[in-house]
Parts: sequence; C-alpha cells; structure tokens
Amino acid sequence: MIANKKKVKREGKEFPILVYPEKCTGCRTCQVRCSIRYLGEFNPFRSYVIVARDHGKRTTALDFTDDCTWCGYCARFCAYGALVLKKSVKSGKGGR
Ligand code: SF4
Ligand code: SF4
Repeated sequence: MIANKKKVKREGKEFPILVYPEKCTGCRTCQVRCSIRYLGEFNPFRSYVIVARDHGKRTTALDFTDDCTWCGYCARFCAYGALVLKKSVKSGKGGR
C-alpha cells in the first residue's frame, strides 16, 4: 500500500489552528495563501481551507479539506482572529 502523503505530514501532529468562524469576514486571504503555497496559483476556491459565506445571514462556516496538511500557514495571515495558531495563543502574540 502506498503511504498517504498528507497523513504522513500529519503524523504525531495536533491540529495547529483554533477556529472562530463568528469572527470571519469572508475575506478569503487564508484561501489565497493556501492555494499559492500548495497549488502555485491564486485560486481561493481550490485551497484546502473552505470559507462558506452565507451573505443573507451574514455568517461564515470554516472547514478544511482532507488534503489539508495541518501546516497552519493560512492562520498566519488571518487579520480578523478567525484562524489563530495555537502557539500564538500560548505566547500571547495573537493570530498573526
Ligand atoms: S478565516 Fe480569516 S483570512 Fe480566512 S476568510 Fe475568514 S477572516 Fe479572511
Ligand atoms: S493548514 Fe496549511 S494546508 Fe491546511 S488549509 Fe491552512 S495553509 Fe492550507
């Protein structure tokens, strides 16, 4: 059986991001950053973080695809505190 690359990358890791969907503005910066890093293209809709904005209710759901490697990179660029790196919380540095 061929080793699953993303599972190898996740092995022994704890999911590194705290998620606060109520703070999300739907800016999609996290998606752009992930897509550039992993796909080499500016395409938020192919990224491994899912931002599902309900404009009517003004709410957002945040989720991660199975391809997400749990690298935490996207959370470094969330300016609104919706994705926060766990180590940033511990060090009191906020989400960036
Ligand atoms: S999680 Fe943060 S970076 Fe991503 S869309 Fe929401 S506010 Fe923007
Ligand atoms: S944790 Fe890494 S792989 Fe997962 S969505 Fe964020 S940038 Fe993409």
